[in-house]
Amino acid sequence: MRIVVAGIPGVGKTSVVTQTVEVARKSGLKVEHLVFGSVMMEEARRLGITDRDAIRNLPIVDQRELQTSAARKIAKVEADVLFVDTHLFIKSSEGYWPGLPGNALSTLSPTNLILVEASPKEIVARRTNDISRGRDLGTEKEVSDELSIARNMLCAAATLSGAPMMFVQNGDGCLNEAAMTITRGTGLKS
Ligand code: AMP
Ligand code: MG
Repeated sequence: MRIVVAGIPGVGKTSVVTQTVEVARKSGLKVEHLVFGSVMMEEARRLGITDRDAIRNLPIVDQRELQTSAARKIAKVEADVLFVDTHLFIKSSEGYWPGLPGNALSTLSPTNLILVEASPKEIVARRTNDISRGRDLGTEKEVSDELSIARNMLCAAATLSGAPMMFVQNGDGCLNEAAMTITRGTGLKS
């Protein structure tokens, strides 16, 4: 299984995937978890980038190269279940740039597509409180627009890949419930 878990910055997707992986590993299956941005970061270091939040400021042509090679590396990982934590779009100076364009999507060839969501208010608060990252904060209105673009992009990815898609709520205090929704929804736990 290749489960792509996406969500806008600050929605808590890394926390949700980490918790989901913990539950899924109890099944005895070989479960791997890769963060697309971390795989891109390994290559980005060669371009002198030392901060993952600086990747999105590179020229699109460089980001595309990093994206393509990250997708290829991830596709080679062998596991019973592979979780890929990624973005559906990156906010760039040229506009919203797809995180899963057709070529990356066909390389990754997901079996399941999941979008982690929360309310705009919760997301703005999480971005503001996350001092470990150089997140773009945004207003609640901007975050609400990002949530709807993410839904639209997930629909496009589902249509292109033929994989089923699921929207999972990660409201405050609901991390465990979100992980359970994913493990049950994907059949990893009954
Ligand atoms: P993250 O830690 O998930 O926020 O990822 C760090 C950075 O990696 C993001 O801000 C993007 O610049 C980049 N990134 C992650 N996933 C993708 C993707 N699918 N396509 C392009 N860039 C990505
Ligand atoms: Mg993350």
